[in-house]
Amino acid sequence: KKMVYYFGKTKTEGRGKSKALLGGKGLNLAEMTAIGLPVPPGFTITTEVCDGYYKNKQKLPAGLMDEIRKAVSVMEKELKKKFGDDANPLLVSVRSGAAVSMPGMMNTILNLGLNDEATEGLAKATNNPRFAYDAYRRLINMFGDVVMGMEHHTFEAAFDKIKKKYKVSEDTDVPAEGLKELCDAYKKVFEKHAGEPFPQDPYKQLQLAIEAVFGSWNTPRAVSYRQIENIRGLLGTAVNVQSMVYGNMGEDSGTGVAFTRNPNTGENKFFGEFLINAQGEDVVAGIRTPQPVAEMPKWNKAVHKQLLEIKQTLESHYKEMQDIEFTIEKGTLFMLQTRTGKRTGVAAVKIACDMVKEKLITQKEAVLRVPANDLTQLLLPSFKTTARNAADVLARGLPASPGAAVGKLSFTAADAKARAAEGEKVILVRKETSPEDVDGMHAAVGILTSTGGMTSHAAVVARGWGKCCVAGAGDVKINEKTKKITVNGRTFGAKDVLSLDGTTGEVMAGEVETQEPTLSGDFAKLMGWADQYRRLKVRTNADSPADSKRARDFGAEGIGLCRTEHMFFEGDRITHMRAMILAETEKDRRAALKKLLPFQRKDFEGIFKAMNGLPVTVRLLDPPLHEFLPHEDKAQKEMAQELGVKPSEVKQRTESLHESNPMLGHRGCRLSVTYPEILEMQVRAIVEAAIRCANKNIDAQPEIMIPLVGTAAELRVLRERVEAVIEEVVAQKKFEGKLNILIGTMIEIPRAALTADEVAEYADFFSFGTNDLTQMTFGYSRDDVNTFLPDYLDNDLLNVDPFQSLDTTGVGQLVEMGVTKGRSVKKKLKVGICGEHGGDPSSIDFCNQVGLDYVSCSPFRVPIARLAAAQAAL
Ligand code: PEP
Ligand code: MG
Repeated sequence: KKMVYYFGKTKTEGRGKSKALLGGKGLNLAEMTAIGLPVPPGFTITTEVCDGYYKNKQKLPAGLMDEIRKAVSVMEKELKKKFGDDANPLLVSVRSGAAVSMPGMMNTILNLGLNDEATEGLAKATNNPRFAYDAYRRLINMFGDVVMGMEHHTFEAAFDKIKKKYKVSEDTDVPAEGLKELCDAYKKVFEKHAGEPFPQDPYKQLQLAIEAVFGSWNTPRAVSYRQIENIRGLLGTAVNVQSMVYGNMGEDSGTGVAFTRNPNTGENKFFGEFLINAQGEDVVAGIRTPQPVAEMPKWNKAVHKQLLEIKQTLESHYKEMQDIEFTIEKGTLFMLQTRTGKRTGVAAVKIACDMVKEKLITQKEAVLRVPANDLTQLLLPSFKTTARNAADVLARGLPASPGAAVGKLSFTAADAKARAAEGEKVILVRKETSPEDVDGMHAAVGILTSTGGMTSHAAVVARGWGKCCVAGAGDVKINEKTKKITVNGRTFGAKDVLSLDGTTGEVMAGEVETQEPTLSGDFAKLMGWADQYRRLKVRTNADSPADSKRARDFGAEGIGLCRTEHMFFEGDRITHMRAMILAETEKDRRAALKKLLPFQRKDFEGIFKAMNGLPVTVRLLDPPLHEFLPHEDKAQKEMAQELGVKPSEVKQRTESLHESNPMLGHRGCRLSVTYPEILEMQVRAIVEAAIRCANKNIDAQPEIMIPLVGTAAELRVLRERVEAVIEEVVAQKKFEGKLNILIGTMIEIPRAALTADEVAEYADFFSFGTNDLTQMTFGYSRDDVNTFLPDYLDNDLLNVDPFQSLDTTGVGQLVEMGVTKGRSVKKKLKVGICGEHGGDPSSIDFCNQVGLDYVSCSPFRVPIARLAAAQAAL
């Protein structure tokens, strides 16, 4: 099998191959070469080789080095240089590149191919000994770091010595002979720590470097990043070996990174940074602060113009915003990378809409292009204008990733992770972030760095996650030892709260009040397109008029689940509820329920009004009764006092309601079987509210839903009771109009799905309660799953948390069976889903496939579900 794909003037073998095989970087290098952009020649070693490497006890496959030698010889011919030559050596970079980009996660080695002799050759060929020794010392350092796992500081001490000797403070001021001495010193450091001399054979360097890149695929930080990003099923990383070009050959050279459009706002304006006389990683690492690309014409007009042309070429070719890396060697521009640019949700929406306007893509493509989950960022809070005007602004950094974050300071990734796990909101404060920090960055509500640019590691990673980040706030002096920051003479520690504005870059003292987002014009436009394509309706899970209204503003087309139990916890209601539970006779129970009735009726009226003209699924009481009783002595005493009973009575009743497996106990429709009066009160409240609405010309469309049904008989009996109450109330109220009340059930017990044809006889609709259905299908307690779920995910026993994303192979079968069997009896049976999965894009895709009528999710996820439903349909 072919292991190496060449790209260059001679041939571009990788063009049209898959990302899975060549990785994103390799594929795009081939593509850019093929469309005539200036790309230094090189070759890509496939991900299959990486896979083989791991399957073969971490050994490179036979024949690989021969294929590589052939590819190198093609490069040599093209460039008229020779690998390891002592006159004019060919030097290469070695980089990783998986199918999914993993910023900063994998290792890179530059200047590979240099040895003692080749360095002399390079010095002569470039007439620049300083440059040659600088390249060599960088190679030894990177090689030691990446291939041998040596710590960076082992080299740093040697560098400091040289700087002292030459009485300079900046690296760039060390003269050529100093760098030559440094190379010798570095070789000694290398030999001491690696236990062998720095390899002089360029092919040996290349082989070790390739192995190191493969090895980096399974480092803890790479594994952790893939876990967080849920990147699974890849073979491994590809390796790109490419001839070097130099941005550090003097003042006419430089290097940069850019986005073809603004990745924060989406504005169609070339956006990037460059550093004069610098090499590769200097920009990304955030060591020196780069200049914006807009300043480039002052330095080199022609290159700036050429870059703008390349922006056009790339965008019209890829029809996507690109993230590029480039280097200018003595005034000549080279492209080193292009890939689809990561962007904020706001930018994603704007770019998609703009590209439709520019006729680069169709409306359909625009809908498909925005990751549904990224809409969260458009729904994010920001700071209240008044509050932020009054805020105590401490410093200003770069607006690296938008949003508003308020939290206490944390100085290490581990601390941020630990405190976030305890429920604390923390802001991770670092001089600059490195890939080792990803866990902590993920756990933090916001990230603040004191150095680094808009494309530094922190910025890129935060933006990908839609996490608020302020980078390069130079006024913030961080003392990691004392765990304090000092800003213009003021000091803040781990207990202090700061507010970060990722949209302006401001760092503010204390808690600044935030506000809900307002949705922009582009957002509405995109949602409008999505609505044209989707088949699934989108409802919301809401149990208050306010939530209902908000959800409707977000486009909800009704309520798919109103959990009535939530209403019983407010104010006085809990007291009446508890009185009802304590009651020993039906009569006393009815008396207590009578007091609850007006509250319920009022809630329902408000919700029906908010959802005027749209269906509202009201679920009858579901949780076990003991959930409404206090379990601590003190609270039990208080309750007894309030109800005028003995504390022992409360204690006794609580104990008698105790269950070993409450989730499998006396809950759901079983409550209605035992206590029909609860069902009667709730149905009465629903019907009376509907009648009141009808009298006010409000179109209430209640759907009464019976939870936790496992047999058709349960639903038959309870349906009869519900119908009887409806009839009774209508008669009592002498209501003459038409109430169109549906009666249906949740399918959340596997048996209900298995016998859905029988259940459907008595149901006007089904709603899949996939939280319980998942719980009972897997046998995982939904409340205790976190005791073992992390181990399952770590060990690849599960790909995702099945409570977050529907297990389509297992639980999904029950859903599909429920739909099919249900509709075999009632062709037009209305079917939806109201478990948490109703707001998860991949679960929504499944719901669309199996023919559900609607999904229902929390209000903030409604726009996400609308977009995901459209994407599922396209
Ligand atoms: C479900 O089980 O999926 C459901 C929606 O009900 P609850 O989460 O209230 O048990
Ligand atoms: Mg349930």
